[in-house]
Amino acid sequence: MEILADRILQMSESETLAMTRIARELKAQGKDVISLSIGEPDFNTPEIIKEAGKKAIDDNYTHYPPVPGYADLREAISKKFKRDNNLDYKPEQIVVSTGAKQSIFQTVMALVNPGDEVIIPAPYWVSYKEIVKVAEAKTVFIETNLENNFKVTAKQLEEHITPKTKLIMFSSPSNPTGMLYTKEELKSIADVLVKHPHVFVMADEIYEHINFEGKHESIAQFDYIKEQIITVNGVAKGFAMTGWRIGFIGAPLKIAQACNKLQGQVTSATCSIAQRATISAMELDPTKSKDIINMRNKFLERRDLMYKLLKEIPDIEVILPQGAFYFFPKVNAYYGKSYGKYTINNSNDLAMYLLYEANVALVPGVAFGDDNCIRFSYATSNELLIEAVRRIKEALLQLK
Ligand code: GLU
Repeated sequence: MEILADRILQMSESETLAMTRIARELKAQGKDVISLSIGEPDFNTPEIIKEAGKKAIDDNYTHYPPVPGYADLREAISKKFKRDNNLDYKPEQIVVSTGAKQSIFQTVMALVNPGDEVIIPAPYWVSYKEIVKVAEAKTVFIETNLENNFKVTAKQLEEHITPKTKLIMFSSPSNPTGMLYTKEELKSIADVLVKHPHVFVMADEIYEHINFEGKHESIAQFDYIKEQIITVNGVAKGFAMTGWRIGFIGAPLKIAQACNKLQGQVTSATCSIAQRATISAMELDPTKSKDIINMRNKFLERRDLMYKLLKEIPDIEVILPQGAFYFFPKVNAYYGKSYGKYTINNSNDLAMYLLYEANVALVPGVAFGDDNCIRFSYATSNELLIEAVRRIKEALLQLK
């Protein structure tokens, strides 16, 4: 007898976390594995933020916080939205959660009924589609590809909107492609949305500060559709705070209140210490903070290095990412080839081959909705990147 619920049986394990788990297991067995799988900055959290966390313990911030987050944290996030994004979200429109993943989960749960349609341009971040499955809604994917910079057009979106569409989910800067939507592109999407007021957008902006082109653009800046946008952000990527687990939304009041109600039944609130530390992260102006600027510059240097290295591998197609810390090259020229006991027919086969033959962990493109590609996270040192690509190149060249 099956004891587990259908919703769990239908759900896949997070592929980013699965590859990271396997890489950790191999390392524990003594294998010299280089992990370019999980999207996690290798930097430590800036000192000023760590100090705020330590002080929070000494100041006895050890009791239940308010469900949506401390008032002064939500005030600081409200100011951050104004300073960095020119967005007006009042503190009561902000809900702080245990990572942007929980923020996204709650947004979907608050908005989507079973049977509703959720549009997800592919490639997408792995968890979007699984969260939609839990909500028993229907995912409607729109394919994009390397040739069109992996970006969906306003026209494509409009063609997929039906009376049952409830939500569109996307990230910019994008995980896994590193592409950015320009202000003009977002405006044309906003012009479609305004004609369909029953459609909401979950705009995932977690990579905001890792942008190599200049100013980050939020779709919520267009006032005429602001009531349709849920802006999701957090501190994991831009502030090297993955383990602190802090994400947040800025949303129309009714949606924020719904997420707050749900959160009150799920986690009560997120960790008090991490919230206090996040206040000091929110006070850092990204145009002035040396910590943020140095991390971004380091990512830029690594991006350029990685681009050069990947271009030297025959038969893979790569475009230059504009943000985040991923490459998502096309690798399908290697499909149909073999080496020893390995035959490569898809991105999963290739990722497993590279893991066991080259000892480099990557995430197969199929996890992000494009089986022709594979994802490299380059949030690690130059030395490891050089060695990882050397091993990958060697392993790929032995495929015949
Ligand atoms: N978001 C990161 C990634 O894509 C972290 C892992 C996860 O939560 O998926 O690798």
